[in-house]
Amino acid sequence: MTAAERRVALDAIAAEVRDCTRCRLHETRTKAVPGEGDPDTEVVFVGEGPGENEDRQGRPFVGASGALLTELIESVGWTRPDVFITNVVKCRPPGNRDPQPDEIGACSVHLHHQMEVLDPAVVVTVGKHSLERFRPGDRISRVHGTTRPIDPATGVRDGLAFAMYHPAFALYQGSNRPTLFEDMAGLPGAVAASRQRRIVSDPPVAAQAAGTPPNDAIEPTEPLVTRSDTSDTDQLTLF
Ligand code: SF4
Repeated sequence: MTAAERRVALDAIAAEVRDCTRCRLHETRTKAVPGEGDPDTEVVFVGEGPGENEDRQGRPFVGASGALLTELIESVGWTRPDVFITNVVKCRPPGNRDPQPDEIGACSVHLHHQMEVLDPAVVVTVGKHSLERFRPGDRISRVHGTTRPIDPATGVRDGLAFAMYHPAFALYQGSNRPTLFEDMAGLPGAVAASRQRRIVSDPPVAAQAAGTPPNDAIEPTEPLVTRSDTSDTDQLTLF
């Protein structure tokens, strides 16, 4: 699939999301938030769901958490437009409550389609519901900053899930901020590791990806290529 074909496919999914009535969250949303970013990226960030600002603007990760996420992305030499950003549920749960299992289940069709189109080398899980989707059974306090192969049943053909705390973890308590940046520093290496796995498992596709010009980005350790348990943190179940 070319970048242009991916863009068309992602736009079609976004249109479906904006018209979607598959769960009760459509009743209270202002705007659905399908996601945004480079259709040809290797890296997809998946958060939990839109908050108040996202619901108003129809864009993922705006507001304070979005600003910190952008800062984290830039800390490894990338820019926000280099990646794709979306959520497990595309409509805001009222009052910023957790999305319910049936809502996550209903919305999974959209996330699955996005993963099939994007075919990411790495999915960055941002928050507990995203972690559960791509690394079921893992606890963020034990696995943050690490990778695990993703089950292809999620729509990700052959990729690694990189676990990250939600930016709110640092906004809630500033002393957690260094942890997020330390974890983020490992992401370029995770991309390199996933790329290598894909070359071994699917030489033609991965070799084509690795031969495509870089997407402006990935210093300090790895250019982003387009295809062409700590008890004190366990209590923060929000993340
Ligand atoms: Fe549809 Fe997902 Fe919005 Fe529910 S949260 S209405 S499934 S787009």
